[in-house]
Amino acid sequence: MRAYRLDLNDVVQHPGRRVEYPIEVWLEREEAPPQSEPIRGTLVAESGGRILRLSGTFHTVVWLECGRCLEYYQLPVDFEIHEEFPLVGTPAGLNPQGFATVEDRDSFPVFEGNWLNADELLRQYLILQLPIAPVCRPDCKGLCPVCGQNRNERECSCPERKGHPAFEALARAWYGEED
Ligand SMILES: [Zn+2]
Ligand SMILES: [Zn+2]
Repeated sequence: MRAYRLDLNDVVQHPGRRVEYPIEVWLEREEAPPQSEPIRGTLVAESGGRILRLSGTFHTVVWLECGRCLEYYQLPVDFEIHEEFPLVGTPAGLNPQGFATVEDRDSFPVFEGNWLNADELLRQYLILQLPIAPVCRPDCKGLCPVCGQNRNERECSCPERKGHPAFEALARAWYGEED
């Protein structure tokens, strides 16, 4: 993974300091759906002395596969980041002998020392924005279960099936119907 890393040490060592980082990043495809636009936005890092605050507003467009018609479609995604990380140690800005470090989360860590893996943080937030069952549009008609035709493009002439196939089989057995 080619990490998009930001050195936040300057902020970490200086309580009251606020730095804005313009972000433009493409995530690796294994980590997130393919993007048709990079994630763009501004990450703001602020130190309160004992707390490091990260915030920002981001936008991207991802490609998702519709669960009904199996076509890919583009979904614009806007999201915000709000995170707070405790700082351990005395910031060097307060005491020349001091050195503060970020205390990362136990699960899904995003820091290496005072370097932020920004792409990992953005990936975690982006994933939360994605639908669990993607559908290209609310009225997507999906594929015909008989012939596989995409019914958004063209209606086929297959007989319409009612109910779950398993229940149909049961009904046929029960009533002795021929298929
Ligand atoms: Zn669809
Ligand atoms: Zn059909």
